[in-house]
Amino acid sequence: MNSKTCFVSGLMKDVDEDMIRLTFGEGSKQVESLGLIPISPLNVAHAVGENKTREEYLAAGLIELEQCEYIYMLRSWERSEGARLELEYARLKYVKVLWQSALDQYKQKPEFRKQSRRVKCEQCNSVFDESRIIYLNGVEHCPVCAHTDALLQLHEDGSEYKESEFTKKEAR
Ligand SMILES: [Zn+2]
Repeated sequence: MNSKTCFVSGLMKDVDEDMIRLTFGEGSKQVESLGLIPISPLNVAHAVGENKTREEYLAAGLIELEQCEYIYMLRSWERSEGARLELEYARLKYVKVLWQSALDQYKQKPEFRKQSRRVKCEQCNSVFDESRIIYLNGVEHCPVCAHTDALLQLHEDGSEYKESEFTKKEAR
């Protein structure tokens, strides 16, 4: 399994080519902002070559998907037979599922820009602004390594909180 790669999944059938490039491009950028390497079905299709059947492109995509650690479901996934198939396959292969809709909800929260505390990821030791924490399905993800549940808050000067300083709310 290639770690940190993320397959981008969404509607492609009967969609204008420019629109596909736009939506999958946007999705790929969001995947990168999570610290993951996006695997776009557009590139997979390009590698497979032209004049193949839809089934052949889908099959090639599933082979790529199987090797990814994550799958990123674009908003359009529910309208796409192929994306629904990819989601099912991802679950079968224990590929972790990330949702564009969940990321959107988080960005719309009014408090999103106000947060300014520094946090550290215990997994990869990156230090970053709290506002960069990714919430997916209500779970905190490190924006660098995408690890969950390994975030420590830091003082404004960057020093780490001691365990005794954690409030009840912050304690896990
Ligand atoms: Zn991390």
